[in-house]
Amino acid sequence: MKPVSPQSRLLAFTDHGLYCPPGNFYIDPWRPVDQALITHAHADHARAGHGAYLAHPASASVLRARIGAEISLQTLPCGQSITLQDARVTFFPAGHIPGSVQIRIEHRGETAVAAGDYKTTPDGLSEAWEPVRCHLFVTESTFGLPIYHWRPEAEVFAEIHEWWRQNREAGKTSVLLAYSLGKAQRVLRGLDRGIGPVWVHESIQRMNDCLRADGTDAPDFPVFRKANRGNESGQMIVTPPAAADALTRRSTVSLAQVSGWMTVRGNRRRLALDRGFVLSDHADWDGLNHAVAATGAERVWVTHGQTEAFSRWLREEKGLDAVPVATRFQGEGDGDNGESEAGP
Ligand SMILES: [Zn+2]
Ligand SMILES: [Zn+2]
Repeated sequence: MKPVSPQSRLLAFTDHGLYCPPGNFYIDPWRPVDQALITHAHADHARAGHGAYLAHPASASVLRARIGAEISLQTLPCGQSITLQDARVTFFPAGHIPGSVQIRIEHRGETAVAAGDYKTTPDGLSEAWEPVRCHLFVTESTFGLPIYHWRPEAEVFAEIHEWWRQNREAGKTSVLLAYSLGKAQRVLRGLDRGIGPVWVHESIQRMNDCLRADGTDAPDFPVFRKANRGNESGQMIVTPPAAADALTRRSTVSLAQVSGWMTVRGNRRRLALDRGFVLSDHADWDGLNHAVAATGAERVWVTHGQTEAFSRWLREEKGLDAVPVATRFQGEGDGDNGESEAGP
């Protein structure tokens, strides 16, 4: 089934994005609108140019840093509701990155949930995902194939630490590629600082500062500068992929990336990585299926990535009224590649 622009009483996909007619607002719109509700601060969801923004308080500083200090921003914590025209709006945690929410809309006894990007397993940094009952569920499907299965975080960090120790023995600097918002904080939180000194790219430090200002327990690490280029034994540098070039031209570097895409070996080779570690801020196959079932929804709209395969699975195997949706979210890049410094 080809992607469509489905409509219902509560939600409709339009050429500006996902619209709520009874509330007269948009969710993560990709063209300028009067009222935008933002599920999270990744760049493909939070764009510039809207008249007013409503988002979770934990993403306020990041939104201001990325979109502009002058934006008209109202915040709403999870579990509290507001009324926008004829719609009642409540935020629930999405567990994707700090400040990420699922948006529940109620109107005359009907409910719809737009989940944005989400991850069903807790990461200790973002408010943990919660299942939300609804009639219509708008889900992502970035990793909506059975090949995507995440192992426990502790096992992934054991692998990262082993690689880091081997590099230290070989006199190499470890360079770990992680997007600056979400993935980087999660990686930094899990690193064993006893193995060696850890430096971060300045874009990561900026995000850490923003998140801490809004109450997230984001880690604090020194910024890597040219002055650090000496061969400090066992040093680790965490940097976004787009900023890695200058570092990786050196022969004494071992380069690795942390991403759900590292499941596919070809991606690692294509990116000329020495190692790939599978850790994602999105739900894996089991997580997506668990989330859809937990909503109890009979109608499901599928965005991001594997929209056709996952919606077909939900129709044919689960008996749901599921359709793939044509959107402008960039789901193929672990979601995080909507980051400005990482490019499309
Ligand atoms: Zn996304
Ligand atoms: Zn995202």
